[in-house]
Amino acid sequence: MKKTITLLFTLLVGYAQAQTADSVTIRKIYNEALANGKSYNWLRYLTKQIGPRLSGSDGAQKAVDWTKQVMEKEGFDRVFLQDVMVPHWVRGAKEVAYIQNGKQKVSVPIAALGGSVATGPKGVEAGVIEVKSFPELRALGADKVKGKIVFYNRPMDPTKINTFEAYGGAVDQRANGATEAAKLGAVGAIVRSMTNVRDDNPHVGGMRYGTGVPLIPTAAISTNAADLLSKSLAENPNLTFYFKQNCETLPDAKSYNVVGEIKGSEKPDEIIVVGGHLDSWDLAEGAHDDGAGCVQSIEVLRIMKALGIKPKRTIRAVMFMNEENGLRGGVAYADLAKKNNEKHIAAVESDNGGFTPRGFGIVGTPDQRAKVMPWKPLLAPYGLLEIGAGGGGADIGPLAQLGTVLFGFKPDSQRYFDYHHTTVDTFETVSQRELELGAASMAALVYLLDQYGL
Ligand SMILES: [Zn+2]
Repeated sequence: MKKTITLLFTLLVGYAQAQTADSVTIRKIYNEALANGKSYNWLRYLTKQIGPRLSGSDGAQKAVDWTKQVMEKEGFDRVFLQDVMVPHWVRGAKEVAYIQNGKQKVSVPIAALGGSVATGPKGVEAGVIEVKSFPELRALGADKVKGKIVFYNRPMDPTKINTFEAYGGAVDQRANGATEAAKLGAVGAIVRSMTNVRDDNPHVGGMRYGTGVPLIPTAAISTNAADLLSKSLAENPNLTFYFKQNCETLPDAKSYNVVGEIKGSEKPDEIIVVGGHLDSWDLAEGAHDDGAGCVQSIEVLRIMKALGIKPKRTIRAVMFMNEENGLRGGVAYADLAKKNNEKHIAAVESDNGGFTPRGFGIVGTPDQRAKVMPWKPLLAPYGLLEIGAGGGGADIGPLAQLGTVLFGFKPDSQRYFDYHHTTVDTFETVSQRELELGAASMAALVYLLDQYGL
């Protein structure tokens, strides 16, 4: 009995000492990120000097070359590229659109959705059918829809506290709206922008065509213009809408994931990934989406090096290519990991903006999640309070099939969709402090994952 008590006591003391040592290291991680951080200046370069970087574009290639250089300059053990073929969609000349209401013609801001076909040089003009959902559209039937432009106008639910939930509840209109409209003979689809704010910026994003359905052109319209169109339709159901867009899908292009690595000292074969996606929409500097996640990921490795933390396991910063319109980079990364028999124990993604850290969502078994729970007191002092089951990230998603535990970095979500996929997703909208706190949060989690495994 006495022996058992002594053993228990020894274990408890050991646990307390480990917690103290960890809390000291985590404090140092935050100090380094906040006093000597490099993520903000890196983000400035990526957004202001390189700018938009849709897959297949010159900007995307510049971002590949530059992030590779940055990681080489930081002296990581290994920096390498992974080849990946990506879709190459181009917008072409700026879109034109107007509401023709009797004799009154009102120009409105639209932007072709990524992957859409063009309208042809003359554009498309037709009467408009406004709907809020696919069931509502189907109930109208081909009689009412044929030859018309379908206008999807269901807003993101403003009562949802997590804006990603509101986005998830509305984005079907953008992704599948053209296909559902084309099934009933529509000639175009216009989609209310995915945002809670009333603004004049079309918020773009990806869409896909179903098979065996005519490919009709589709575009996002700003929320202010969507409100105007809806109001005008209520007054005059016979008005017409005109739009012209010049986008095109070119042959797939060669591109790359960019990977930087610090080799593990004890278990080099166990890999922990921290990453974001390097591509952005063509209209955006891609500061929050997802320049922030990329520079934060590089910063995680830099912080470890700067503090002389020699990880037991191999830590990789991965800049994934093509999250926005294909996910080819994420798929290629997991394929290669499988082919090379690599053991990825965990992957952390930052792709929810560079805002104030709130926590991490975990995709794993209840047992794996339970292993993370004792770390909560170490992370709570830094505002990381929301730690539990939740989303990982699109790019790391394909790793789940290899048994990798996924962690999605969760910053505050309130402003993300103010900027998402628009010209206003700029460097100026990112707070240096929030960005650095995010990088430190990711570094703290990666440090604990490396210390204790899963
Ligand atoms: Zn993103």
